[in-house]
Amino acid sequence: MKLTQLRGISEKREKDLNKLNINEAEDLLKWFPRGYLDLTQTVKLSECYHNDVVLVACRVSSPPQTVYNGRRSYVKVWCEQGGEQFSAIWFNAPYVKNNLKAGEEYLFYGRIQNRYGIGALSMVNPTFELREKNARLKGIVPVYALRGSLTQRCMRDAIAEALRRVPVKSAIPASLLEKYGISPLADAYRAIHAPASMAEINAAAERIALEEYFVLISAFRYIKGGKEDVRAFEYACTGKEVALFAERFPFSLTDGQKSAIGEIYKNLKSPYRMNRLLQGDVGSGKTAVALCGIFMALKSGHQAAFLAPTEVLAAQNYALVRRYLPEYRAAFLAGSTPAKEKRAIKERLASGELDVLCGTHAILQEDVQPRDLAFCVCDEQHRFGVAQRSALGEKSMGADMLVMSATPIPRTLSLIFYGDLDISEIKDKPRARAEIVTGIVPLHKYDDMLAYIGQEVRKGNQSYFVCPKIEEDEEGSLMSVTELYEELKNRLPFVRFALLHGKMKEKEKAEIMQAFKEKRTDCLVTTTVIEVGIDVPDATIMVIYNAERFGLSQLHQLRGRVGRGDKKSYCFLLLGSDSEEARERLNIIKQNTDGFKIAEYDLKMRGGGDFMGTRQSGKMFAQLKNLRYSAQAIFEAKKLADEAIVCADNAYLRAQALKKYESLQDVVLN
Ligand code: ADP
Ligand code: MG
Repeated sequence: MKLTQLRGISEKREKDLNKLNINEAEDLLKWFPRGYLDLTQTVKLSECYHNDVVLVACRVSSPPQTVYNGRRSYVKVWCEQGGEQFSAIWFNAPYVKNNLKAGEEYLFYGRIQNRYGIGALSMVNPTFELREKNARLKGIVPVYALRGSLTQRCMRDAIAEALRRVPVKSAIPASLLEKYGISPLADAYRAIHAPASMAEINAAAERIALEEYFVLISAFRYIKGGKEDVRAFEYACTGKEVALFAERFPFSLTDGQKSAIGEIYKNLKSPYRMNRLLQGDVGSGKTAVALCGIFMALKSGHQAAFLAPTEVLAAQNYALVRRYLPEYRAAFLAGSTPAKEKRAIKERLASGELDVLCGTHAILQEDVQPRDLAFCVCDEQHRFGVAQRSALGEKSMGADMLVMSATPIPRTLSLIFYGDLDISEIKDKPRARAEIVTGIVPLHKYDDMLAYIGQEVRKGNQSYFVCPKIEEDEEGSLMSVTELYEELKNRLPFVRFALLHGKMKEKEKAEIMQAFKEKRTDCLVTTTVIEVGIDVPDATIMVIYNAERFGLSQLHQLRGRVGRGDKKSYCFLLLGSDSEEARERLNIIKQNTDGFKIAEYDLKMRGGGDFMGTRQSGKMFAQLKNLRYSAQAIFEAKKLADEAIVCADNAYLRAQALKKYESLQDVVLN
């Protein structure tokens, strides 16, 4: 529908709206408010502070006066509420004088001024109306971003008109809407623009996000033409064999692990190639799932690869493969592997004398050519660069892929769109998981903390000390990891400290890690090298210096390094700067243990600029930025899209998806 078809929209107004990229009446509906005024409640003057934007009800105590201050004149009125004085003034609005009567009660809406904290509160140019009339200053009022000569009033009117006139139809087939009890899209648009309560807004935003993601994901589906990659490898291994294999673990699998393994198994037995993201919080036990997948390949007579972003992690995985799959021939390949050994490994891979290869991205080199690579696991995949990921895509031509991640970080999400991954989620955690207490340590408690750690070391518990990497152009207050290491050695001379940082050779790092695992050292002083995947059950304390410098998801990952055994564990956060914002962020970490939630906060706080991971998709994000980012909505949308594609009543979806795709094409595919 054309904008000018809406009542009250002139050609001039249309031009202004075009500047905001609002070109059709439908676009108006998607012009979500940037905020809301809550006029559902009045406040007491005695509870107001300078700069609060509030709605107050006051009785006008004396007739309004016109005041001239030597430069310009204004209207001023004195009011009273519960013994508090209040003055309101208006510039350039002489008519106000006639609209206010002494003795009557009015509602005033505006910013409270009380700059010096003394004297009466005042408002400049407040909006007001008779309290008993109360026709305008009520409810929740949306506030829109504007351009040109547009005003809030005309934007609200235009949108209200669009809500009345534009038919809203969900692209989700009616059969699915009904099946899942999804609320009508039109209601959500109405609630976003004209909410009855603040609570309604959230639900509406979720519903709209679900719709948008659904159309987006469907668009990619349709473009792929529903062609799934065809399976290249047959898996002869039976479910019973997998169950037997799982008995090798010293624990019984959680329900989440079981269902993830089940999904992988089903996928491998299907006619389609697996391209699956295994998503689970730190410590949810993704590795065991990966090992089961690898077993399915090996048992079926194929080769498998287990890829990790760092040598330390790769070595850890290699040790697990050796432990749980001892009957298969395994090798380890990383940057530090001596050339001669590398050559031998490559030859054995090519001839099929090796069954499983663990390693870092060294595996991705061109001359590594396994004979029968059927199954490929990529641990902590978000740590890999874009180029490495595409190399992996080529290398694994036809192989079944399992990528694992503990954080639904933006790039991972982009893969959901681009790579069209299937998703398995582990939502539970192994029982008997120790509690992790997170505390923000004030400076004056630092010494106590060190003393406490000293005691813990005497009890045989280990700790990590993590400090942020120092960028080249920084100096001053931040301590480098080497300085910290020296200082800690002085402070706690009986503790065996080890230093681990990114500048070290991979091999050296792996050795230091190994020593720590074997408890030949007590405390590891390090940068974020240890962020991912490291598993040391006796490590019970994590100290993070300058915690305000880390992303929330990163802190969560770091914290996940402790509490891995059955001992109660601690995460101590030290603040380098005591800003309000830093505190707020750390409180999120303190109060949340769900990695998903934390990632969402993280994204909201960072503004989601990296949503799609690559630069050129910035435009795409611009289209989505009005949407509430919600991992939940994305997962739900994806499931719906799976079902919708085979629905009989999906003609409308198809049309919408193709339209969406067209609008994205230039952005996404280049
Ligand atoms: P992540 O998902 O973070 O990669 P890991 O796979 O490293 O987690 O597992 C963390 C720890 O939990 C490991 O020590 C592992 O042996 C243990 N673990 C995994 N699954 C279970 C389970 N079902 N019951 C008890 N412990 C488990
Ligand atoms: Mg892991």
